[in-house]
Amino acid sequence: MKVPFVDLKQQYLSIKEEMDAAIQSVLDNTSFIGGSVVLKFENDFANYLGVQGCVTCANGTDAIEIALQALGISKGDEVLVPAMSWIATSEAVSTVGARPVFADVLPGKFTIDPEQVKKKITPATKAIIPVHLYGKPAEMTEIMDIARVNGLKVIEDCAQAHGAIYRGRKVGTFGDVGTFSFYPGKNLGAYGDAGCMVSNNSEVAEKFRMIANHGQQGKHNHVMEGRNSRLDTIQAAVLNAKLPYLEQWTNARIGHATHYNECLKDLGIVLPELDESRHVFHLYVVNVMNRDEIKSQLAELGIATQIHYPNALPVLAPYGEKAEDYPVACGLAENGLSLPIFPELQKAQIEYVAGQLMSMKK
Ligand SMILES: *Cc1c(COP(=O)(O)O)cnc(C)c1O
Repeated sequence: MKVPFVDLKQQYLSIKEEMDAAIQSVLDNTSFIGGSVVLKFENDFANYLGVQGCVTCANGTDAIEIALQALGISKGDEVLVPAMSWIATSEAVSTVGARPVFADVLPGKFTIDPEQVKKKITPATKAIIPVHLYGKPAEMTEIMDIARVNGLKVIEDCAQAHGAIYRGRKVGTFGDVGTFSFYPGKNLGAYGDAGCMVSNNSEVAEKFRMIANHGQQGKHNHVMEGRNSRLDTIQAAVLNAKLPYLEQWTNARIGHATHYNECLKDLGIVLPELDESRHVFHLYVVNVMNRDEIKSQLAELGIATQIHYPNALPVLAPYGEKAEDYPVACGLAENGLSLPIFPELQKAQIEYVAGQLMSMKK
């Protein structure tokens, strides 16, 4: 049996008619930047999350950069970032001239550890970027408390967590800003690069709009220098066609993760927690000894797996820190294995993957 890691084609075919019509209507109107299609997505996504303002941009990395700029973070500032994430999280901090300072992640949960965050705060610290890694909400109550006590801004990196819920509220609505990526493989994916920033603070949301569109407040009124980071209308049309399905697709992911957990419960390994918060399973990551060997054995059986990520951020070349200082993140880098998960995955495929893993135990 073949089990791909993701299958974007299946999803496209399941909504082909409406998707083709949505893209065709942009072609018919030949209006390719901005306009009502983009505004519709911003309104609908803000309503979906339960947040006041949503401003789209070119990708999820830009979204973090624009969020940092809108909050006034720049040269000389330090920003706390989890030791395990995609490099975009720390890269964005450096791009605005600030310095990323890493905090290790929590054992078993793999989101930023609030106790480690406290230890890394200095007079130069200006913000924390919790990442809802793999779709699991970070410990937002503790993080918001730390931020309040220390006067820090909070930017939630929600690139892997569209629709994830923490204590009754969607992620992205707790911090000063929430940032999203709509990269094709994300839980809500465009057919190219796309991203957005959300905020309940209308002044901050206005800044997003200005920064993302050359500092303009109305046409040719450049009140500051910004940049070009806009969402293409075709991508907005794709996202509009997909948003109504996000809940259904998310529930399918959660169902698959639940089934994996049942099938793998006797394996004696660390499985993702299914707790009271809503983990949306962008990725289903297990921790196994001999990870690389298991990965290649699964590949031979037709099962595609990936590693997210093979190195903790602090040990990467641009940062050059020691692995011993980040034991949890480095352990995950060594043992974490992402199994196939996507809404259209079949129960029989999950059972095949789990069965092969179980038989490797013996
Ligand atoms: C994908 C991702 C990003 C960056 O999004 P792009 O749209 O690819 O720029 C940022 N943070 C995390 C955690 C991601 O997974």
